[in-house]
Amino acid sequence: MAARKPRGAIPATLIPGDGIGPEICEAVVHVLEALKAPFAWDRQLGGMAAIQATGDPAPKALLDSITKNHLALKGPLTTPVGGGFRSINVRLRETFGLYANLRPVRSLIPGGRYEDIDLVLFRENLEGLYVAWEHYVAIGDDPRAVGVSTGINTRAGSRRIAEAAFEYAVRHGRKKVTIVHKANVLKALTGVFLEAAREVAKKYEKKVACDERIVDACAMQLVLNPWQFDVIVTTNLFGDILSDQMAGLVGGLGMAPGANLGEGAAIFEAVHGSAPDIAGKGVANPLALLLASGLMLEHVGKEKLALRLREVIDVVLNRDKVRTRDLGGKATTRQFAEALVKRLT
Ligand code: NAD
Repeated sequence: MAARKPRGAIPATLIPGDGIGPEICEAVVHVLEALKAPFAWDRQLGGMAAIQATGDPAPKALLDSITKNHLALKGPLTTPVGGGFRSINVRLRETFGLYANLRPVRSLIPGGRYEDIDLVLFRENLEGLYVAWEHYVAIGDDPRAVGVSTGINTRAGSRRIAEAAFEYAVRHGRKKVTIVHKANVLKALTGVFLEAAREVAKKYEKKVACDERIVDACAMQLVLNPWQFDVIVTTNLFGDILSDQMAGLVGGLGMAPGANLGEGAAIFEAVHGSAPDIAGKGVANPLALLLASGLMLEHVGKEKLALRLREVIDVVLNRDKVRTRDLGGKATTRQFAEALVKRLT
C-alpha cells in the first residue's frame, strides 16, 4: 500500500477512518498536495472500515505502518457505545505510548461569541479512567446491576504530562499553566496528579506562572472568562471533556485539532469523532483535521509550511468568506478544500 516516496519525502501513515473520516481526509490530502507538504502517505484502514475489510479494527498492517513511520494522520474512528470492541483510538495511544494529548484552540473567525481565544490543553492520554478496568456486579437476576470502574493515575505519568505542558509553555512563550483536578473528592486518583504537577510547577516557577482549578469550577470559568486561561494541564477524562468545551468557544468541533505525542511516535487527528449524523453528505468541516496536519508539519520541522497553511485558512475563511455549514456558510467539504487549493496555487 505504500506510495512511491519522492526524494526528501517524509513517510507517514494515513488512516482515513470512518463516518466523515474519508471525506475530510480526502480534502486534507488535496490541500496538503497544493501546499507541497512533503508527506509520502501510506494509507491504512482502521476502526469500522478495517472491520468491514479484514474483520479486525486494528489490523497488523496498520500497526506495522505506524511502527515504521512513527508518524500518522488519522481520521476519526467510531467506537461502539456500551459494548463491542474497545476504542481503537485508546488502543493506538497505548500501543505507541502516546502519553500527551495536545489540543490547542484558537479563534479563526472574528465576530463569534468569544473573540481572541488562544488556549492550549494538555491531556494525560494513557491513565485515569481510560484504562477501562471495568466490570459488572450481578444482583439477583440482573447481571449488570452495578458498574465498577477503577481509575489509575501514577506519579510518573502525571509528572510526565505536567513536564510536557510546562516545556510547551516555555518553548511557545506562554505565561501560565493551570493544573486542573478534582483532588477535593478523588483525593488519591487526582491527588497524585495534583501533587506531581505541583512538583513540576516548582521547577519552572521562574519561567512560567502556575495556578490550580477544580475541574467543575474550571468548566464554568471557561464559559464566563476563558481569557484568564493560557495552558491547561489535566487528567484524561477531564481533558477529553474540557477540550470539547474549549472547541465550543471557537465555533465548534470542526475547529479543534489534536496531537497524540509520545517518545517514539506521534498521531495527529481532529478532536471530533466520526459524526455519523452528517457522514456521507459531503458537508463536514475538514478544518480540524487540516489544523491537525498543521501541527504535524510543525512536528516535523516544517514551520514555514504550517504558517502558510494557517495564512491561507485565514484568507479563505475571512476574505473569501468560504465556510462550511457548521460555521454558518454554505460550502461543501470539497468546495472548502477547493477554495484553499485555489489560494495556494
Ligand atoms: P462527534 O464529534 O462525531 O459529533 C458531535 C457533533 O459535532 C455532531 O453533531 C457532528 O455532526 C458535529 N461534528 C463533528 N465533527 C464535525 C465536522 N468536522 N464538521 C461539522 N460538524 C461536525 O461525536 P459523537 O457523535 O459523540 O461520536 C461519534 C463517534 O465518534 C463515536 O463512535 C465516538 O466514539 C467517536 N469518536 C472518535 C474520536 C476519534 O476518533 N478521535 C473522537 C471522538 C469521538
